[in-house]
Amino acid sequence: MTHRIHNFCAGPCTLPLSVLEEARAELTDFQGCGMSVLEISHRSARFEALHHETLALASRLIGAPDDFQALLLPGGAHQQFDMIPLNLLADDGSAAYIDSGVWADKALKEAERVGQAQAIWSGRDGGYTTLPDSLPALPADCRYLYLTSNETVNGIQYRSYPEAAAPLVIDASSDYYTRADLPWARCAIVYGGVQKNLAPAGLALVYVRRDLLTDHPRVPRFLTYAAHAAANSLYNTPPTWQIYLLHKVMQWIESKGGIIHFDRASQEKSALLYDYLDRSDYYTNTIAPAYRSRTNIVFRTRSAELDTRFWQEAEKNGLSGLKGHKIVGGLRASLYNALDIRSVHALIDYMDAFAAENP
Ligand SMILES: *Cc1c(COP(=O)(O)O)cnc(C)c1O
Repeated sequence: MTHRIHNFCAGPCTLPLSVLEEARAELTDFQGCGMSVLEISHRSARFEALHHETLALASRLIGAPDDFQALLLPGGAHQQFDMIPLNLLADDGSAAYIDSGVWADKALKEAERVGQAQAIWSGRDGGYTTLPDSLPALPADCRYLYLTSNETVNGIQYRSYPEAAAPLVIDASSDYYTRADLPWARCAIVYGGVQKNLAPAGLALVYVRRDLLTDHPRVPRFLTYAAHAAANSLYNTPPTWQIYLLHKVMQWIESKGGIIHFDRASQEKSALLYDYLDRSDYYTNTIAPAYRSRTNIVFRTRSAELDTRFWQEAEKNGLSGLKGHKIVGGLRASLYNALDIRSVHALIDYMDAFAAENP
């Protein structure tokens, strides 16, 4: 049997074993064509069929309405930090950002280079441990309100999406396909890098409301949604390997019962770990309870030295990726779709043993 450990890495991260095994079996001969999927043209009928099916399946599973077009774009989430303001602020207007953590802050700094963008709320002074309960007024001529559904580094997540006078742009990178409650009727764009739940890194899955797919003559063509939409995401040679694996993961999600199944699983796995943390006087989590992330759970022991010992010894015990992000330190367990609840039980057992051995 394949040697597999418990992988709690924040991204790239664990993928379903069945998907990896299928990919391995097909690697040298894709669908009986005598070539690898890595070796065939993206214009071949075989690849095009897979590509279009991936887009259709992804849209169906997430429940995207017909007035949204799914796009597969290179450059991961970072390229979207730029493409969003380049397209949505192309004919002026302003944008409002909720500065909820590391990723929202990065997105805002990009938007500021492009147009009129400002934070209407910031959690920076509080160390990014909470989200706004209500929002201040939006600036004049506001084209969109930008938010990060789940702050991967800080461990904070919206339990419900805010109501606002402008359409929402949502970075869903780290809770993509783990929750069934996206407010499509209030959204302009929903997007995510795929490496947190869905596929290998380098690709973004972006849903754009179709009325926003207009050309902007002064924006470099490759950075317009219109160019990619018109070519059904085959404008350039796309990252075919990522798309191939994304297709397999989408099929895997469907086979388990769709997003509803993973929404429930995500709730169950995270509740198990939070309940343990709440009962513990050894480990702490300082995120406002109403906004605790279900996919990235941050915690600490009593000292930075002990935190380091915790993740180093965990690695030796087959529990990988528990070191907190370098910006915030501490510890972090990422509970994405492909991480089984048995891994959470194994983590809790390890936490118990570690606390007993390091009183
Ligand atoms: C990981 C992550 C990103 C960055 O993804 P890249 O693919 O590296 O650009 C952006 N936003 C969130 C919420 C993330 O978790």
